[in-house]
Amino acid sequence: MKHLFPNVAAVVLAVAMPAYAQTSNTKPAARGAPSAAEAKAFVDNAERDLANVSDSDLHCYVRAKLNEKYGDAVQSKTGPIRADLLGNMWSQEWGNIYDVVVPKDGAGLGYDLTKQLEAKGYTPQSMVKTAENFYISLGFDPWPKTFWERSMIVRPRDREVQCHASAWDIDNKDDIRLKACIHVNADDFFTVHHELGHNLYQRAYKNQPFLFQNGANDGFHEAIGDFRRAERADGRLSEATRRDRCHSGK
Ligand SMILES: [Zn+2]
Repeated sequence: MKHLFPNVAAVVLAVAMPAYAQTSNTKPAARGAPSAAEAKAFVDNAERDLANVSDSDLHCYVRAKLNEKYGDAVQSKTGPIRADLLGNMWSQEWGNIYDVVVPKDGAGLGYDLTKQLEAKGYTPQSMVKTAENFYISLGFDPWPKTFWERSMIVRPRDREVQCHASAWDIDNKDDIRLKACIHVNADDFFTVHHELGHNLYQRAYKNQPFLFQNGANDGFHEAIGDFRRAERADGRLSEATRRDRCHSGK
């Protein structure tokens, strides 16, 4: 990631910055392609931000918990976290190791969301509908009719598919879709909110020029649906990430 990112950033800068500069109200001298110094400063800042993330209290805390569980031979107390220990094939969601990292002082969700979804008779479709209703409750338009006709919400029986959930904007307008194999459980409940967050963002920039039909940064895109998860963290997050606990490796 660290080596890849500057290259990606440089390409994005080279393509996007001139267009941005032409449309912005910046002073004439600032219009046109970024200077080498501007591009370098951008990449340096991004690298520094990424370094801060990898060295964050949360990263440190999770690493310590994994070290506690697996021992030094598997997960060292320092350095990167092994990607295959994070409970997700792509390491992009850490929710599946919640039971490993939750503080020992009795903190917990206080309820079993999977059991509640089952008890209330949720289906994969109604989970997606619930996510849609959440965004509608914030004032956004309902998802288009075609979304419900064209999305893949459960694993089809007649063919092999790639089940990793993703959100699509086929025509960069209103043909937004979900591709997923949803099961009725807490993890997928958050997944549908996450993916519909992508759809929301995709639709929000449909009237923008092509170059701007994406998040300003992938992180923004990923964050839209994930703010819904904040409810899982609540006050315990601050406890869980206490610097002293983390850096003592406990
Ligand atoms: Zn995503």
